[in-house]
Amino acid sequence: MVSIIPIPAFRDNYIWAVRSGARAAVVDPGDAAPVLAWLDANGVDLTAILATHHHADHVGGVRALRARYDVPVFGPAHEDIPQRTHALGEGDRIAVPGIDLLLSVFDIPGHTAGHIAYYTMPPDPLVFCGDTLFAAGCGRLFEGTPGQMWSSLSKLAALDQNTRVYCGHEYTLANLRFAAAVEPQSTDIEVRTIHERDKRQRGLPTLPSTIGAERATNPFVRAALPNVRMAAAAHAGRAIDDAVDSFATLREWKNGFA
Ligand code: ZN
Ligand code: FE
Repeated sequence: MVSIIPIPAFRDNYIWAVRSGARAAVVDPGDAAPVLAWLDANGVDLTAILATHHHADHVGGVRALRARYDVPVFGPAHEDIPQRTHALGEGDRIAVPGIDLLLSVFDIPGHTAGHIAYYTMPPDPLVFCGDTLFAAGCGRLFEGTPGQMWSSLSKLAALDQNTRVYCGHEYTLANLRFAAAVEPQSTDIEVRTIHERDKRQRGLPTLPSTIGAERATNPFVRAALPNVRMAAAAHAGRAIDDAVDSFATLREWKNGFA
């Protein structure tokens, strides 16, 4: 049986441990110290490192982990990943070493140019999507265009609605405040906000999310819907051409949203 465990790092990052018995792989180890502490505390051996993109808060711990564990490093082919042993891109499939888990790979550019996601299909679907799709939000466009990010988010949103979403940061409550500003009449957003606030008050992660929850409450995933387009148009004070224009307008709105 495979379980997915959050290892908190820095201020709001999650490093995801994919554990089967006394073995685990980690996704996006930005810092080695909390991973090594978790491995030691649980008597678990590291079997592999998976990276979604090149930012230091996702790969900064790779060298120190590899100094203690001689394990493969899976990462995007088109980014500079420390000590990468397996270069991955769209359509690749991997068997996670030591873990009974097969993962498929999507290219999801936008936050960074070579960002990838790792996912599985039903019956037990999940996705590790780094800083592309967040719970009720999405990553900033550091290296990509709105069009790229929109198609990346659309690809993720097309996964089975029960797919569990494991992203890189705990940004959910701030994202939901923005979602409520875009769709003030949404009871789905209001209900979700109550649930997620309760988790945080109890010291729990809001993650994983699900693709179904994102389709219902994430303004970026919902950018093509008429009421979201109207909100984007009202904010921008001009007509919105299409889904990409709506998405780009929402992303800029969120950048200045306090
Ligand atoms: Zn990032
Ligand atoms: Fe990040």
